Amino acid sequence: MARERVAEGVKQGITSIQGLIAQGRGECFDYLLGERTTPSAEAATKAAAALLLLAKRPSLSVNGNVAALAPDEMVELAAVLNAPLEVNLFHRSEERVKKIADLLRQKGARKVLGEHPDATVPGLEHARALATRGGIYDADVVLIPLEDGDRCEALLSMGKKVIAIDLNPLSRTAKKATVSIVDNILRAVPNLTKQARLLSEVPIAEADRAVREYDNERVLREAVQEIQDHLGAQFLE
Ligand code: ATP
Repeated sequence: MARERVAEGVKQGITSIQGLIAQGRGECFDYLLGERTTPSAEAATKAAAALLLLAKRPSLSVNGNVAALAPDEMVELAAVLNAPLEVNLFHRSEERVKKIADLLRQKGARKVLGEHPDATVPGLEHARALATRGGIYDADVVLIPLEDGDRCEALLSMGKKVIAIDLNPLSRTAKKATVSIVDNILRAVPNLTKQARLLSEVPIAEADRAVREYDNERVLREAVQEIQDHLGAQFLE
């Protein structure tokens, strides 16, 4: 179903052709993980929800794969956090940006940015550097699902906290991000929304603690171990 959604995204001009390759890589890692939310992903999701709740200016990035796979889920998360969604494409075309922004608005998004970028992220080639004030450019915490390593590093260099959703625990993005959720976006975003709701109902100290106690390197090691355990179990059956 997910593959069909991305293929449909390409047909509709929402997802780039390269998005199919990213989808294939994601499917492979999801298979290795056992297509489930692992305990390490659960821990990362809680820390991510805490970071987003504690943020002064959170911002959520949407690319062509994210728009094809989880537009409703991203709109719901944005509403819970009262955060803008910003269309941010690796292979930018104004037409694609508009199609994705229209889709998000049609799904009920209150604030969609990216059609009129007014700033650039230092260290990236021009088209990829475009960003918007009031969105990703001056956010303190940015959620980047399915993003590449360069963009992740460039945002970190600006002093931002970066939350990645990436099924590959070995990617540069996962290794560099402040918090890496090694899970399928289809499971990760609803979990993030649930955690954000739960954390917003308890004293703020709980969110502070979740952030303070979080160790991304440990979580990535656990994710690799979870893959190994899953694979090992295949041969015992
Ligand atoms: P990097 O530059 O970080 O080393 P990369 O070159 O692999 O990574 P991309 O192809 O731009 O970067 O990123 C796509 C990433 O998104 C891949 O790591 C892939 O595993 C992941 N991915 C693809 N589909 C999904 C999905 N549905 N949910 C979560 N992650 C996904």
